[in-house]
Amino acid sequence: MPPEKFSKNVQDYVKTIYALQNRQRPVSNSALKAQLNISAPAVSEMIQTLVKLNLVHYEPYQGVELTTSGERVALEVIRHHRLLELYLYEALGVPWDEVHAEAEQLEHALSANLAERIAERLGQPQFDPHGAPIPSRDLSLPEQHGGPLLAATLNTLLRIVEVDDASPELLRYLATLGLVPGQQVILCERAPFDGPLHVQVGEQIHAIGQQTAMAIRVEEQSTN
Ligand SMILES: [Zn+2]
Repeated sequence: MPPEKFSKNVQDYVKTIYALQNRQRPVSNSALKAQLNISAPAVSEMIQTLVKLNLVHYEPYQGVELTTSGERVALEVIRHHRLLELYLYEALGVPWDEVHAEAEQLEHALSANLAERIAERLGQPQFDPHGAPIPSRDLSLPEQHGGPLLAATLNTLLRIVEVDDASPELLRYLATLGLVPGQQVILCERAPFDGPLHVQVGEQIHAIGQQTAMAIRVEEQSTN
């Protein structure tokens, strides 16, 4: 069943479970409660709804896992979200710190058909403006390279592949430092005891906090 046949809430729950599954499987009730910021009874009620729709398996005291159809709904919503972000950014010139909030609303109403038209117009893109992979029409994800900046090798040429898109303030801050996908950087120093990271961008060296660094993924550039 296409995602737009489900309520906006159901789509959001499935998307949240999909994201949490990358860290922990099954996803516990308490993890869902914390992520969605809703009460424990509301979580139980939501799980019952998703079980009835055959979108999750539920194991009492363990948590939930998406069924194959649940996973397909999540990937379709993510596809809509990331295509919309790129379309708003590229075709309409919406700033990159604003596209996420707009896409959060629009993703639920978009049909697979219209999503495919957008994908076609954009040349079947693989990544959104923040560098996140866009699931293809058959819902396979393009391979994501790299790892967290926090764990990158010192004094090696790196390329930013993705930044976390959830906070507009953080995106604006990163843009002012030039820390955007595609940019080449060098991690010069990682201070001990959770201290700042010194990152070289062009001629400049910026000190950024651990929280900021956690929002950035990089890949090592091969040197010839
Ligand atoms: Zn987004």
